[in-house]
Amino acid sequence: MPQVADNVLAQPVTVLKGVGDKQAEKLAKIGIETVQDCLFHLPLRYQDRTRLMPLGSLRPHQEKLVEGVIQLSQVKFGRRRSLLCQIADGTGSLWLRFFHFSKAQQQQLARGMRIRCFGEIRNGPSALEMVHPEYRLLTGTEPVPVDSELTPVYPTTEGMHQLSLRKLIGQALAYLEQQQMPELLPDALRLHDVAHYKLSEALKYVHLPPPDVDVQQLIDRRHPAQRRLAYEELLAQQLSMRKIRINTQRHPAPAIRADNRAQKALLNSLPFPLTAAQQRVIGEILQDLAQDIPMQRLVQGDVGSGKTVVAAIAAVAAVTAGYQAVMMAPTELLAEQHYQTFLQWLEPLGMTVGWCAGKQTASQRKQMLTALEQGDISVAVGTHALFQDQVVFNKLGLVIIDEQHRFGVHQRLALRDKGRQQNSMPHQLVMTATPIPRTLAMTAYADLNVSVIDELPPGRIPVTTVLISDSRRQEVIDRVHAACQQKRQVYWVCTLIEESEHLQCQAAEDSAQQLQQALPDCRIGLVHGRMKPREKELVMQQFKAGEIDLLVATTVIEVGVDVPNASLMIIENAERLGLAQLHQLRGRVGRGSTQSHCVLMYHPPLSENGQARLKCLRESNDGFVIAQRDLEIRGPGELLGTRQTGLPQFRVADLFDDQDLLMAIGSSADAFLRDYPDQAEQMIKRWFGNKIDFGQV
Ligand code: ADP
Ligand code: MG
Repeated sequence: MPQVADNVLAQPVTVLKGVGDKQAEKLAKIGIETVQDCLFHLPLRYQDRTRLMPLGSLRPHQEKLVEGVIQLSQVKFGRRRSLLCQIADGTGSLWLRFFHFSKAQQQQLARGMRIRCFGEIRNGPSALEMVHPEYRLLTGTEPVPVDSELTPVYPTTEGMHQLSLRKLIGQALAYLEQQQMPELLPDALRLHDVAHYKLSEALKYVHLPPPDVDVQQLIDRRHPAQRRLAYEELLAQQLSMRKIRINTQRHPAPAIRADNRAQKALLNSLPFPLTAAQQRVIGEILQDLAQDIPMQRLVQGDVGSGKTVVAAIAAVAAVTAGYQAVMMAPTELLAEQHYQTFLQWLEPLGMTVGWCAGKQTASQRKQMLTALEQGDISVAVGTHALFQDQVVFNKLGLVIIDEQHRFGVHQRLALRDKGRQQNSMPHQLVMTATPIPRTLAMTAYADLNVSVIDELPPGRIPVTTVLISDSRRQEVIDRVHAACQQKRQVYWVCTLIEESEHLQCQAAEDSAQQLQQALPDCRIGLVHGRMKPREKELVMQQFKAGEIDLLVATTVIEVGVDVPNASLMIIENAERLGLAQLHQLRGRVGRGSTQSHCVLMYHPPLSENGQARLKCLRESNDGFVIAQRDLEIRGPGELLGTRQTGLPQFRVADLFDDQDLLMAIGSSADAFLRDYPDQAEQMIKRWFGNKIDFGQV
């Protein structure tokens, strides 16, 4: 090994053999810039080539090493030409399938040859098969040794081969022998058992598991070395979020002493009294606003729990104290609805409400921007257009972000930074209807205080949910017809995920047309994401006013839209959506005083997993229960849509399996940051590099 500088782990990857500028550029794409980054580039999973599996024991979806003698080898001319070989080992048989093969290969893979293969077992048309396995032909009869170690599989990028990554990481591990990796966990904070495992040992172990490893334990991610790393990774993430919080609190914020008269006037104008939960949460918010440090509070409340009025009261408090408030929503439709609601509630109090969205005309926009800057608008409502550079506030005191799960941490911080005046920060209130389990909330919102509206307004009747195969579409249409005749309104939601928005809108247009043919006496409206805001608004207003019976829509209506007379919802291809999203959609009905129904139409056959998920929705109306189940069935990344929440992609940690570690960390992250700021900084950097941006704090 070449002699290297003292601090080799901090050197750029180009010090490693075989890494030139081009290679370094590719590595940077997967977050590897230094030698140390190689060590923290952890295997996604392992391949087990240490055991030969009897063919009779194979199950689909496993990756296995097998060996057998070729019984049959033939080229099939079907829809796609393929070479098929059947192998057998006395316990059973397996097909190998090649779509691409050379003449030479075809001759090699002849009857009677002994072959060893590695690959994924799949259900073929008639029997289990491996498609394009890695293989080698064996000559002679002596047993050929199997690998003695598991093979790590790394996350990679285009043009970066697993083997090259393995070699680089091998080199980095060799340096680790020369130079110890500093242990950053202070002794006082080695709270959990796993924290006693040495970091360097743990890293070596997961990259190059020794031959005597408990293979299953490693594959299941239960090995103490993996848990040691997961613990530190979770801690690093907590540190980064807590750091955002602490840095924010260094700034002063306007202490807002609320004027009770305006609040009372607003409450008196409402047709309902607040629930106890709403009152409690409002109390918590007002208390935060009165402080001269920025509020950082999350309000969680199931769909329909009444978050809007809570936001309105916070806005009123800010305005009566002489500040501006801004409310941002993730979709134009929702922002418009909030705008209308705020107009109705706040204008009678003498407050001006402004509107800011992407699709405004230039002159409307200019006017609005000037009014905002001069302070003629007290409350601005809009979409992410509010982030834009030209938007300047006069005296921003409060930022409200609705349906937070649609925005990432970065966007949230960006809007807050907008309101900075000299050193002072606005207060920040974020609201979400995605009830997430506690452990996830701790991770995603570790920089926020959490209030929960855990009560629905009285008189709500739980929505009855049924599952129906789409082969019974006609029955569903009959049901829609009956509902319309009873003057009840209906949503028909078209879903297409992973497809373009364009296709989604097309699907909704097609459905609307078909339904209009099937139900000629129904008044049908259509909303989707590609319509002009004014068109959408018009349709929504017609629906609200009861001039439309059946609203065909894409998932744009998912969040927040409120039409109490709608009591039936049909969701097409429900199996394609996440439970939390379905629960949100379903929350559009059940807002009035009649019994509401939600029909989840699915396309059979429904997988076992799909059945379990939809059943859970049928059995519960409680967003928290559903979220917990979704987490168990699908895993946290899916549940929240990692990119959308700003939750980092974890390398080893798993928010579900490692909940105990998260609990063990608890509040110790704060003590760590306070007492060992340098170590904390290094730990964040080690795990998240420059990926976490703390805003301009
Ligand atoms: P979400 O929490 O889903 O944003 P909204 O704020 O849209 O819920 O409220 C849902 C509906 O319930 C609205 O029509 C709202 O006016 C109404 N509402 C809110 N609070 C109460 C309450 N305390 N009693 C009765 N209705 C309420
Ligand atoms: Mg809402």
